[in-house]
Amino acid sequence: MNQALKVFKFGGASIKDAAAIKNVASILQDYKDQKLLIVVSAMGKSTNALEGIVNAHTAQDGKAFELLEQLKQEHFGIMAELFEEENEVFAQVNDTFVEIEWVIEEDPQHEDYDYLYDQIVSVGELVSSRIVAAYLAKSELPTEWLDARDVIITDNLYREGWVLWEETLPRAQKHALPKLEKGGFVLTQGFIGSTSENFTTTLGREGSDYTAAIFSYCLDAKSMTIWKDVPGVLTADPRLFDNVTKLDRMSYREAIEMTYYGAKVIHPKTIKPLQNKTIPLHVKSFIDPQGSGTFISAEVEDIYPPMVTVEQKQAVLYISTRDFSFVAEQHLSQLFSLIAKYRLQVNMMQNTAISFVVCVNDIDDRVHKFKENIKEEFKVLIDRDLELITVRHYQKEMLNNLRKGKIVILEDRVKNTIQMVLKKVPMIERKEN
Ligand code: ASP
Ligand code: MG
Repeated sequence: MNQALKVFKFGGASIKDAAAIKNVASILQDYKDQKLLIVVSAMGKSTNALEGIVNAHTAQDGKAFELLEQLKQEHFGIMAELFEEENEVFAQVNDTFVEIEWVIEEDPQHEDYDYLYDQIVSVGELVSSRIVAAYLAKSELPTEWLDARDVIITDNLYREGWVLWEETLPRAQKHALPKLEKGGFVLTQGFIGSTSENFTTTLGREGSDYTAAIFSYCLDAKSMTIWKDVPGVLTADPRLFDNVTKLDRMSYREAIEMTYYGAKVIHPKTIKPLQNKTIPLHVKSFIDPQGSGTFISAEVEDIYPPMVTVEQKQAVLYISTRDFSFVAEQHLSQLFSLIAKYRLQVNMMQNTAISFVVCVNDIDDRVHKFKENIKEEFKVLIDRDLELITVRHYQKEMLNNLRKGKIVILEDRVKNTIQMVLKKVPMIERKEN
């Protein structure tokens, strides 16, 4: 029966080494007789390492094979701690890594960067899912491996594939349901999908949560759980702030808002599919699996404590017309279509009579490309290395504390949310004498 299905997602930190994978298996022992679909990310920081291979390959700096070899050794080292030599997982993982060799043997000149990226980076999840599935099977938890690319169909916007729901839905039922009916777990990859022509795509960094939500939606899961290295959804990042507390409950709406504003605990695209089918989401700790975690559901809006998110690597662009004409509607629509083209992720914007100011994530060389494209018509000044702080349900008293030692470049308040773009400046201090 579909009703009883649960979907679990384990991220990179939860499977970063042999001990971590053993811990996941021990958590799953408690769910042995349940109908479970498990989504895993790449192990530890493998995705970053794979990005390094893509960059080495496209730069043709001669390091790609060496970096690949390192990553393979890390995986094989972990596997040696988990499996007997004759386990077929060694061959499966080896064959999967060979796919990277095929790509990096070719001349990158003829290929689009984003396309190459997806072909190489997707291997992280393909191998981690093989390893975890094999280890669960070895731990008397029968588990079938499912290729997420048979299910999740996207458009061909590489690195940020948009899910084609009409194609994905029937495929989830066709490929995942029969496997689930057999009893035992089904385990698949987060983050990856396929175009309808069978080319591998990815859904955007940290996209595995979203994958779990896609499966939950398509298979009418009873609930979804994200297993994290924190006790649940916290009011701020404990590495940056004191007095951080866990939220026990939260509405979908609040979760959408806070992830939209940069809370890293859940991928922002995750909530909507769950909300559409009223599938509750648990955020729980893989370090303390008995802990209560956070329960996200359709419950009535509650009263929330102040919640703070911080996003680094922000750039603010000050754009004005060269002829001092007003930044009128036709300019704005031209700018916005370029913002979409260069995939600048906009976090804040303001306009004055002759200028348009926008704060974006400073990723790759997107800001530079955007500027190059508009510089004939517009004057563009860029401020980089900024920090964006968002406070929901803020209390006035805490704001000064957050601004301390920084200057405020932009500030915006909408209802109970305040956003501030801050720049670190060396504060001049009076000498003591
Ligand atoms: N492995 C991918 C990443 O690191 C996806 C994920 O972890 O959710 O971005
Ligand atoms: Mg991750």
